[in-house]
Amino acid sequence: MGSYLSPITSNIFMEHFETKALDTYPLKPVAWFRFVDDTFVVWRHGKDELIEEAGGIPFLDVKVQRSDTSLSFAIYRKPTHTDQYLHFNSSHHMSAKNSVVNTLVHRALTLCDEEHRKDELKHIEKALNKNGYPSNLIHKAIKKQTGERSEELVDDEHKGVTFMPYIKGVSDKICRFLNRSGVKTFYFRSAKLRDILSHPKDPLPKDRAPCVYSIPCSCGEQYIGQTKRPLKVRISEHRRATRQKKEEGSALAEHACKEGHEPLWDETTKLAQVSHLGMRLTREALEIRVNETSTINRNDGKDISRMWRSLFSNNQSQSR
Ligand SMILES: [Zn+2]
Repeated sequence: MGSYLSPITSNIFMEHFETKALDTYPLKPVAWFRFVDDTFVVWRHGKDELIEEAGGIPFLDVKVQRSDTSLSFAIYRKPTHTDQYLHFNSSHHMSAKNSVVNTLVHRALTLCDEEHRKDELKHIEKALNKNGYPSNLIHKAIKKQTGERSEELVDDEHKGVTFMPYIKGVSDKICRFLNRSGVKTFYFRSAKLRDILSHPKDPLPKDRAPCVYSIPCSCGEQYIGQTKRPLKVRISEHRRATRQKKEEGSALAEHACKEGHEPLWDETTKLAQVSHLGMRLTREALEIRVNETSTINRNDGKDISRMWRSLFSNNQSQSR
């Protein structure tokens, strides 16, 4: 949903579906109106005829069925459901695969009633086997969730947490190393094809995007700053502060006025385009520290770990 084509395709499908359903089902509604996927129907053949035909009423993940005296609950899957999950051989951390198994088992145990639970667990095992998961992993999850939950880790055992992208063979080693020092690791996924290829919104024009910039001075030093607004606007503010000798508003103006230097406005360069404020402040601080011998900034900006500084300067010298 959310795409321009959605209403058109759902209309095409619904038209096909309703024609077939109304033509073939022996009982007919008195009135049938539809707008996209919403219907208004007058039905004179009783509730049973509607409910029994569908084999129960699906609500979210649950299929509610009527028996003589009570309701029964099973897992509902759309007819188009493919039982495709994250493949076991996929390059993800084991915790992601475990969570696929745990989620399905948890859903079966909490939503299904006694009557349907066994079949659902069998279905899960079969589906997960098809996705490459070994049966013992599934049995372990069932055992763990039906038994005592004593194995769960208490968070106090960790001194800190860290987040990193999952790269098979590398992240696991770092995680083990950190774990020995009491640091828990959470992984986030790296870019997928979808992230790289689909951009529903037009990107901001380059000259309007938030950035980290450098304005050189005639003495060879430079001022490093960051701005959320178009760079042009920020430069004109620096120029005005320098012209009007408003030193408190700009370190660059202060330097130019005190030393009698001329900032080289036309040689301003954009060092990086960064939308996220926290990341932009970090980038600004890194640029200031890496160029500390040649900057006229009043302070070093955001406080950052020395570790990043050496990493950044190594990376810069390698890429040059
Ligand atoms: Zn200067």
